[in-house]
Amino acid sequence: MQSYRDPAAKWMGSPNFTRDRNGHDMAVQPAWVVLHTMVGTVASADARFQQKSQQASAHYGVGLDGALYQWVDEKDSAWTNGNSAVEGAIGRNEDSVTIEHEDGGRYDDPRPDALYEASAPLVRRICKRYRIPIDRQHVIGHRECTGNAPTACPDALDVERIVAMAAAGGEEDLANSDDILKFASDADNIVRYGSSDPELRSAWLVQFLEEWKAGLSTILAAQSGQLAQLLGDDDAVRKAIAGLTAQLSTMSSALADVRSQLTATQAELDAIKVEVEAGGSVDAASAIARIEAALRSA
Ligand SMILES: [Zn+2]
Repeated sequence: MQSYRDPAAKWMGSPNFTRDRNGHDMAVQPAWVVLHTMVGTVASADARFQQKSQQASAHYGVGLDGALYQWVDEKDSAWTNGNSAVEGAIGRNEDSVTIEHEDGGRYDDPRPDALYEASAPLVRRICKRYRIPIDRQHVIGHRECTGNAPTACPDALDVERIVAMAAAGGEEDLANSDDILKFASDADNIVRYGSSDPELRSAWLVQFLEEWKAGLSTILAAQSGQLAQLLGDDDAVRKAIAGLTAQLSTMSSALADVRSQLTATQAELDAIKVEVEAGGSVDAASAIARIEAALRSA
């Protein structure tokens, strides 16, 4: 996997992680986003995650004020869910991105909106990055993991609310052209589209094209609104656009001409080939003349 540190999160670092997820890849199912509560503050979690002897870490932390922190690069697995190396475990560390949430020790209290408003977009970004469905099967609480000691974590943190908010994110993040470009140039995506499994490859390609289309139409809608404003304001812009539109239409009819010429010359070429194969003698000069005639008549 590619290294990923979320630019929206403050990088904290931790010595507690498994390099390169022991060969696991978040872009390959199964993969989860696992939500936790800190039973403490960001500072107390950080103190724990900085000590090797604690053998604990998380990819991300969300503060009560909505601030984001990152301790482990997404390409590595964090030690959060307590089930590393448990084959087949739900929410296995090697197959998860983990998010701790600050609770100030009051893990049964309601959390402030700011925390939810920061956690949900983070979950959404992670899911988008690895094509993980944003639902309760893939975004889970620590207590839903298997292969670990029983836990109540994340206690009163509202996992349903985070998933609903993350899923309802709509296409607005795709409307950002930077996101679209980033998605298209994402080396992990290129690797997946280059998968040797043709079924996997075409499924990913279809998904990619659908998202691309949705993103582009959102951008176009936004731009045509801006264009309309511009047009209202400036006669020169309106004229320039009209000129461009006329050029486009000329180009498109020119393309149509080229296509019918290609069809006509191909048909003549096929006819000549049939004659030659049937033993007829067609010299190069007359073949060229016939093809040129076909081109002119197209
Ligand atoms: Zn937990």
